[in-house]
Amino acid sequence: MTAPLIDPFRRAISYLRVSVTDRCDFRCVYCMSENMTFLPKKELLTHEELDRLCSTFIRMGVEKLRITGGEPLVRKGIMTFFNAMTRHLESGALKELTLTTNGSQLERFAGDLFAAGVRRVNVSLDTLDETKFAEITRWGRLPQVLRGIDAAQAAGLRVKINTVALKGFNEDELFTLVDWCAARDMDLTFIEVMPMGDIGNEDRLGQYWKLTDLRARLAERHRLTDLAERTGGPARYVRLEETGQKIGFITPLSHNFCESCNRVRLTCTGELYMCLGQEDMADLRAPLRNHPRDDAPLEAAIRAAIARKPKGHDFDYSRQSVDGRVSRHMSHTGG
Ligand code: SAM
Ligand code: SF4
Repeated sequence: MTAPLIDPFRRAISYLRVSVTDRCDFRCVYCMSENMTFLPKKELLTHEELDRLCSTFIRMGVEKLRITGGEPLVRKGIMTFFNAMTRHLESGALKELTLTTNGSQLERFAGDLFAAGVRRVNVSLDTLDETKFAEITRWGRLPQVLRGIDAAQAAGLRVKINTVALKGFNEDELFTLVDWCAARDMDLTFIEVMPMGDIGNEDRLGQYWKLTDLRARLAERHRLTDLAERTGGPARYVRLEETGQKIGFITPLSHNFCESCNRVRLTCTGELYMCLGQEDMADLRAPLRNHPRDDAPLEAAIRAAIARKPKGHDFDYSRQSVDGRVSRHMSHTGG
């Protein structure tokens, strides 16, 4: 292993989130417009390039890889990439290989993912109502996702549900979702909606449901105990004393936990974003493609990028406008 990646604020970078495609079989209203234009295939990193990039990061101290997108499981031949990462789990250099998925393809891939060494998956699910599910995802169908979750649990994968908190949309399902997850032994994390990308006419400020409000609603029915657990990201956890269930809150906007940030994000075209809330990025595809047999220029580009990791993000919801809006889509950077 080469020297670990430490940024100017003495944060060790041990977590890489990798978007393997910008494509998706859903069109969630807060994420994409219905008529998205996707990147031409030649722009995307190949499986070999993804392998080389991730392996370089692992050599430089990354211990956790989260594969995301777009929808990672719609990328053609994606198991080739997961299977290639197994060697890093086996060597002990990589501690965790995981993914965030909409669940639509899990029925097909759950067994293969477990065999590749994946032990946990995050499945995004905002509602348990079939009609509302079709409305929010536009192209998604709830039964298919529920079958995917069944398959994942049957294969031995631990499932965590991620729910975007949307005012006027799933407020009324707070306890339904909590109870459903408890019955299936799944943790649940709520995410505040973020101002990313042009998604057409959706009114995101109207959708914004402050998680402090959500937490207060939860506390009306449950005793909540704050957990000390930290993942180096903008998530905080509580335990519901009655069920023992863990509930997470991801609040990138109304809180700022940047001082413990341990992560960077790689897009499917090889751009490295040092902060989800900032536009600055480094192109890693050029050193990768220009030097097919020498990783030194790639390592140098990674180190130069980490040296520019900002202290924190610039998101700010004000009364009248959404400032610090980030023009790229979440499906590009990987949520
Ligand atoms: N397609 C996969 C999925 O939906 O899980 C992985 C990619 S998706 C971009 C990752 C996560 O980002 C999902 O949980 C999704 O709900 C969330 N997300 C997308 N757009 C968002 C936004 N504007 N604000 C907050 N979360 C968002
Ligand atoms: Fe696709 Fe995930 Fe974005 Fe929904 S949130 S459109 S499933 S990438």
